[in-house]
Amino acid sequence: MNTMENSANVLIIYTGGTIGMKESSETGALVPMKFEQLTDEIPEIKKMGINIDSYAFNPPIDSSNMDPILWGRLAKLIKKKYMLYDGFVILHGTDTMSYTASSLSFMLENLGKPVILTGSQLPIGVLRTDGKENLITAIEIAAAQKDGAPIVQEVCVYFSSRLFRGNRTTKEDSEQFSAFASHNFPRLAKAGTDIVFNEDLLHRSKNKGIFNINTKLCDDIVVITLFPGIQEKVFKQILAIPDLKGVVLQTYGSGNIPTHPWLINSVKEASDNGVIFLNVTQCSGGRVMMGQYETSCELRKAGVVSGHDITIEAAVTKLMFLLGQELSIKEKKMHLDQNMRGEICI
Ligand code: ASP
Repeated sequence: MNTMENSANVLIIYTGGTIGMKESSETGALVPMKFEQLTDEIPEIKKMGINIDSYAFNPPIDSSNMDPILWGRLAKLIKKKYMLYDGFVILHGTDTMSYTASSLSFMLENLGKPVILTGSQLPIGVLRTDGKENLITAIEIAAAQKDGAPIVQEVCVYFSSRLFRGNRTTKEDSEQFSAFASHNFPRLAKAGTDIVFNEDLLHRSKNKGIFNINTKLCDDIVVITLFPGIQEKVFKQILAIPDLKGVVLQTYGSGNIPTHPWLINSVKEASDNGVIFLNVTQCSGGRVMMGQYETSCELRKAGVVSGHDITIEAAVTKLMFLLGQELSIKEKKMHLDQNMRGEICI
């Protein structure tokens, strides 16, 4: 299948990350380089027959410094340029790529074009870099059309020959080229000699409304990972943080917690005071099923919402997104429990 229309227009947004880093002559540490230096390393992109423009963060950042304000900036940039381009490629560090992909999936409403995040494990100037293939194929996917419409109409991560739904991804390896996994949802495409899309799995927005963005996020949240021996004083101290509005509770297995009365009582008290709890499993695969074991029944009774098979990255950003909306606590919990952008299967 020839999926490319030669006149496609793609905007590359360069935020930083290893793909565009080089060794500092002073310290030897990896530091970001300018976008022009980066494209000089890949003359191939000029031969692709795709009109490519770029926008670069100044200065480019290591993605460990990504935050909700910068996510909002990315969403606003996509909104501003939406009508001018057929697709968008975001060059991003791998460390927080799954968080950015997840947050954008919630902030971009009625998205009808591809937003493909990619990066690399080795800088573009290094002989064995994975950055060239990642970038070139991400551009092809962003330009891919069928019957006059973009094949991909959602936020994705493309990495190491695989295209994933962005809000299903997790960075699982800091050394291998296949840095990302999507444990609970199949890949959307595989790039070999051809790019083969799993067309039945591609997300289409339910509302056929006009593309818009919603960048209101509330970051008064915390992630609490349970572990055997977690102390009452620590847990209670966290829940006593002023203005705390949401907690992602990383529980065991299918959503279980220890049966210490102080634990469930603290959750119940905070929940009664308006804090929203989202139950997410510590397992990379599988799902939360509150009520399957006695150790999770009480959580449900305390008003904790099931994260189903959500990733931690999507849980954090979905909670921030819903807490940022003008909705009642009941409505926020209802949306948390439902699939919004393909991030959970219920
Ligand atoms: N620290 C880098 C970043 O996330 C790692 C990478 O790009 O792979 O920006």
